[in-house]
Amino acid sequence: MPSNIVAQLSRRIRKHYPNLKYRIIRGRLADAFATTHLQAESGTYIITIDRDVKPDLAAFLLCHEISHAISWNFDAVEHGDGFWSAYRQVYRLYEDFTAG
Ligand SMILES: [Zn+2]
Repeated sequence: MPSNIVAQLSRRIRKHYPNLKYRIIRGRLADAFATTHLQAESGTYIITIDRDVKPDLAAFLLCHEISHAISWNFDAVEHGDGFWSAYRQVYRLYEDFTAG
């Protein structure tokens, strides 16, 4: 698994979702491996992934968090149908690239 897997996956996500504005921060989280919040002024999703998480898990977490960002506007349920339909699409981007 390449160590820049998160960057490579993110490139695919940006290509597939050109209107989705997000930033990935590798930071320190106290009670989660990853979080997402919307920066209201800029409309940018800030995805924080704990800096100690290994690259392959970080890529999984990015799939999860970006699915929240995608479904945020049309499904208020945290892990509802909107989230899972977004996740299916994003996971396909991940699969295409790790299997290839
Ligand atoms: Zn979640």
